[in-house]
Amino acid sequence: MKHSNISIFVPHIGCPNMCSFCNQHTISGTQKAPTAEKVMAVCTQALGEVRSPENAEIAFFGGSFTAIPQDYMVSLLETASEFVGKGKFRGIRISTRPDCIDTQILCILRKYGVTSIELGAQSMVNHVLESNDRGHTAEDVFRACRLIRAEGFELGLQMMMGLYKSTESDEYETFEKIIYIKPDTVRIYPVVILKNTRLGELYKSGEYKTFSFDEVVNMVSAFLTSFEKNGINVIKCGLHASEFVENDMVGGFYHPAFREICESRIYRDKISQILARKTGKNRDFSFAVSPTCISKAVGQCRANINYFREKFSGCNVKIIGDIGVKKYDVELRG
Ligand code: SF4
Repeated sequence: MKHSNISIFVPHIGCPNMCSFCNQHTISGTQKAPTAEKVMAVCTQALGEVRSPENAEIAFFGGSFTAIPQDYMVSLLETASEFVGKGKFRGIRISTRPDCIDTQILCILRKYGVTSIELGAQSMVNHVLESNDRGHTAEDVFRACRLIRAEGFELGLQMMMGLYKSTESDEYETFEKIIYIKPDTVRIYPVVILKNTRLGELYKSGEYKTFSFDEVVNMVSAFLTSFEKNGINVIKCGLHASEFVENDMVGGFYHPAFREICESRIYRDKISQILARKTGKNRDFSFAVSPTCISKAVGQCRANINYFREKFSGCNVKIIGDIGVKKYDVELRG
């Protein structure tokens, strides 16, 4: 059964500083901090509308949930916790900063039914964190992850790619450290440069140059495959489609079908590697993939099929579905 979130944004109010890329008002599309009454109204409405509440979680996203004034945080959690339990929602998830986690905070979260904690790690390289005004270090992420794990919460990590001063080797270092931590879930956000941010100013002045779209797609497709192989669930890849983001972005890697593009690239590369080794006269090939991935292997508007025809002297590739083939794997069938 598909998992869903009842999302409630708590914009920016808990942040001790302003990260280089952040314009929370644009991301959340709202400027108001929710009240306990608002949480009550959202949850009541959702409970009446969501088909399988037992597969849904109340999700406090946005700012730095555990850094907001504690009385206010407890008032939101207290209200949300009334909607968790038998016949109601499965649990509560929150997102926060790695330096805003300690045992006392975890104790409060547990008391009110929080089940999952996501940390905005963004990068695991200290010079990148510093250059982007994150106000925490990679060691803070390791420490917070250890505490969260020790207390039995589900752990999620968010990484942001293409930040100011981040090189390809920095991106791989972040990725490898996340694999080492082995969170339950990961969100990959290729950077989107927004108006009214420091990153936006650096970009406008020419001081900040980042990767090409293609370079990011190549890296993300490699990361997706490895996360999958390591049993880490990538629950988001690319910023969700929003008119606020589309209006306020000045650069970066926003595409409404970003994940689909990266997954298509995985199939393009894997099939290309096999075709490159085929030297005989036969130019017709069938590849089996997981049935849920056929459209990704074919590519948007048959982009991959056309690519194979052009790159490998007119060869015809047919994609078939086979439930025996794992996600992101391909098998040559003839
Ligand atoms: S911690 Fe998150 S919400 Fe706060 S300024 Fe940084 S990115 Fe924005």
